[in-house]
Amino acid sequence: MKEKVVLVTGASRGIGKAIAKKFGEEGYAVAVNYNKSKKDAEKVVEEIISKGGKAKAFCYDVADFENAENFVNEIEKNLGKIDILINNAGIEIVKPFEEKTYKDWQKTLDVNLIAPFVLTNIIAKKMYDKKNGIIINIASTSAYENNPFSVDYDSSKAGLVALTKNTAIQFQPYIRVNSISPGWIDTEMNIGLDKDFLKNVKEEIFVRRLGKSEEVAELAYFLASDKAKFINGEDFVINGGNVFSK
Ligand code: NAP
Repeated sequence: MKEKVVLVTGASRGIGKAIAKKFGEEGYAVAVNYNKSKKDAEKVVEEIISKGGKAKAFCYDVADFENAENFVNEIEKNLGKIDILINNAGIEIVKPFEEKTYKDWQKTLDVNLIAPFVLTNIIAKKMYDKKNGIIINIASTSAYENNPFSVDYDSSKAGLVALTKNTAIQFQPYIRVNSISPGWIDTEMNIGLDKDFLKNVKEEIFVRRLGKSEEVAELAYFLASDKAKFINGEDFVINGGNVFSK
């Protein structure tokens, strides 16, 4: 039997990389999407192949909406029709509220919210025709916790949770759509943060540490599996415990 195909956007590092590797190890053919980090994406592909899996890197800026159809066609030509879509690519522009520009908002919303909609719209229609498909959106606890320094990011993630629920309604009964809202995860996204700030963050988390990308990948894999067949249209927080969430 042909292996199932999973597309992970933003899979050159961090959470996307861990998700791509998990699905690769479990026998899926993985479309490893990246925008700028070609070498990193190729390394992810090599790691999957070295463990006996199948993967290929696809360069595409998820905010290049005009070319979304070509991107999907390219994956289908190389790996086959997409069975699982994981909208993971995301960016955050951290600066004071009063310095935020509409361009910051546009950039953040394009990558974090509109891109998942555009890819969903193309891929879910094909899944619906096959009467089978899974979509997982990587949102954030920022959908529920607010910080004016990331007003645009927080809004994009709240929107992504709403997109998740709307997509689950729209594509019933064949496609399951869920989102994952990670809390603080140890990735490059948080690399520039002040050490004292991070120390305080850790003290607020019940398990007193940041999460690992692999822990998010395990949840994504579970939600995509048949064990989660009755789970649909929900958002799942994974944050080590935090009184401020949800
Ligand atoms: P990261 O380490 O900064 O990695 C981001 C990934 O997204 C990279 O692979 C990057 O690839 C890709 N990407 C960025 N812009 C892109 C674009 N326009 N087109 C295609 N790919 C693009 O981030 P992360 O921490 O792994 O975050 C992954 C997801 O989890 C994001 O949606 C983020 O909002 C969410 N999240 C993260 C945390 C956290 O604490 N880390 C918490 C909650 C939610 P290139 O370098 O090739 O552009």
